[in-house]
Amino acid sequence: MKNARQSPPIRLQGWYEAHGRRDLPWRNTRDPYAIWLSEIMLQQTQVATVLARFYFPFLERFPTLQSLADASEEEVLKAWEGLGYYSRARNLHKAAQMAAPELPRNVEGLLALPGIGRNTAHAVASFAYGIPVPVMEANVKRALHRVFARERMSEAELWEAAEALLDRDNPFTHNQAMMDVGNYVCTPKQPKCLLCPLNAICEGKTAWERYPAPKEKKTTPVREKIILVPATLDGRYWLSPRETKLLGGLYGFPEFAKGEAVAWKGQAVDVATLRHLGPVTWVYSHFKLAGEVYLLPTTPLGENSWYTLEEITRLPLAGVDLKIVEMLRSRER
Ligand code: SF4
Repeated sequence: MKNARQSPPIRLQGWYEAHGRRDLPWRNTRDPYAIWLSEIMLQQTQVATVLARFYFPFLERFPTLQSLADASEEEVLKAWEGLGYYSRARNLHKAAQMAAPELPRNVEGLLALPGIGRNTAHAVASFAYGIPVPVMEANVKRALHRVFARERMSEAELWEAAEALLDRDNPFTHNQAMMDVGNYVCTPKQPKCLLCPLNAICEGKTAWERYPAPKEKKTTPVREKIILVPATLDGRYWLSPRETKLLGGLYGFPEFAKGEAVAWKGQAVDVATLRHLGPVTWVYSHFKLAGEVYLLPTTPLGENSWYTLEEITRLPLAGVDLKIVEMLRSRER
């Protein structure tokens, strides 16, 4: 990879001072815990959503790494409710328990924690500790393809390109500016090349639409499910913590793949005889769930897993189960 520092100078410092999103709260702290939290939240969620609903309440609930480590998994999942991709919250919690009272102060130590990949480790290292390592999120990748006029780059080539551009004396500003350029200037359509601080070194700017080459579109598989909502006459519902990798620790109603035998407490259930509450859908990263929800009137059988709607609101639930609870709520109104 050509060393871009031998090319005409790039003007990220001055550009960031004038145009960067310097108001973001995680850019105005050197607290590695708060920076790490923002990086994990922003992995799959828009800045505006994280800012409006999640970052501050989570920090208020768990202000330090130690307080997060001391919490139960259920408390952490509850605070994460609505953000999705719950393995992020479980890994955050595990990593806090491994590292408390303080996150490691180097890239290798950060990489050893669950849920921290190279980009997150580099972000925390450069933003909190000023270590000269580049970041690499989706918008930065697009800009790098264009700067180096490459249709396709492997992960290794992307990191090499990012290292070549990195301003080792100012890794904080450089990385923040690269993310802003990728997000707001080198946009997928109609990049603002005339305003771009990378313009002088950008080899792909006259044919930006070629870089990167479009990915082949994958179709999202649909998983059809039957979802039972066991309910008592006095308005209590049965849920239990899930044990799946995707939603482990979150409470949910019993689910069955369409075509699979439906049973409750060892008894076969004839779904055709049940009240149909409605369809429910949810899009996960690699599949779409299409469920049909049925009410199963039953007796509580003396177990602990029965909750009123009021009690359910205190449990951590996945998005699809929140939708079902909303169905039940509108039924009770
Ligand atoms: S000059 Fe244009 S194509 Fe090149 S990085 Fe900047 S915005 Fe993207």
